[in-house]
Amino acid sequence: MRRTKKVGSTGWMGPRYGIRIRRRVLEIDRAQHKASTCPKCSTVTLWRVASGIYECQRCGVRVSSGAYVYVPPPPITRQERGSVENPPAKPAGKR
Ligand SMILES: [Zn+2]
Repeated sequence: MRRTKKVGSTGWMGPRYGIRIRRRVLEIDRAQHKASTCPKCSTVTLWRVASGIYECQRCGVRVSSGAYVYVPPPPITRQERGSVENPPAKPAGKR
């Protein structure tokens, strides 16, 4: 027995806010309740635990990403001058 023909988890909105907005919310909502690929152990066990926080159910790693949907970090292909270990010296505080 399906109570929501097509509105899914946006059913609580009823007829309000407009169909296009509700569809966008539904799209994001579906993506956010689905496991993503863990950046550490590469299994599809990464769950959203809070806004922007994702935790792997297998290796327990906790990562930050988008508020609603996990966005995999881009691969690091080049090293800029002044890496994290050696940040460029900041000029002393005269303005
Ligand atoms: Zn993992």
